[in-house]
Amino acid sequence: MNMVTVIPADRRSAVLTPSSLACLSHLPTVNLTAGCAHSCLYCYARGYTIYPGEDKVVLYRNTLEKIKEKLAHKRTKPRAVYFSPSSDLFQPVPEVLALGYHILELLLTRGIGVAFLSKGHIPDETMSLLLDHADNVRAQIGIITLDEGVQRMFEPNAASPRVRLNQITELIAGGIPTEARLIPVLPGVTDTDDALRHLFSALAKAGSSVPQPAPFSSGQVL
Ligand code: SF4
Repeated sequence: MNMVTVIPADRRSAVLTPSSLACLSHLPTVNLTAGCAHSCLYCYARGYTIYPGEDKVVLYRNTLEKIKEKLAHKRTKPRAVYFSPSSDLFQPVPEVLALGYHILELLLTRGIGVAFLSKGHIPDETMSLLLDHADNVRAQIGIITLDEGVQRMFEPNAASPRVRLNQITELIAGGIPTEARLIPVLPGVTDTDDALRHLFSALAKAGSSVPQPAPFSSGQVL
């Protein structure tokens, strides 16, 4: 794994704002960091002006306080919050994982749902928290290949395919609606007949079945 430098900073911008991505415009979203320690070669966030550079993340250390303030002033609490349009809640950085846990705990204990897309390893304590609130959680696990060599090349700091499959099994078994996200498809690398057949087979064994609706679709969100 590449060494990652964490740069603490205070967030000045608002939290719980809709994403500029059209597919997430119906949900309040939160990024805990600028940049992402998973360092996927194909990551679109590399093109953002706030991208801090290779193997660096800016950690918005006051995010929990900003969310508390926002919820105190918001007249209608959100139905759910989405993590994270341009980073990942479960990066292998202790400070990010700890902050993520406290934010999830705050939201879930207030009855606010959480949805996330991750290519990371969910820590045991966080997994227990999510499973304790399964009715209010929607999970998406990104997985593009079973080939660990390909995964390490394109997603050097993300969890291994085996860890992600195990997490899919655990989330589904715990009653959390869980999608596998097979994006991006890397032409000629991850889309060969063999690669796709093995990946679909592994996902089926992990418990995946038919596609799920989008997490907390607009009809479910205040
Ligand atoms: S996990 Fe997502 S946000 Fe993080 S580097 Fe990979 S593609 Fe980018």
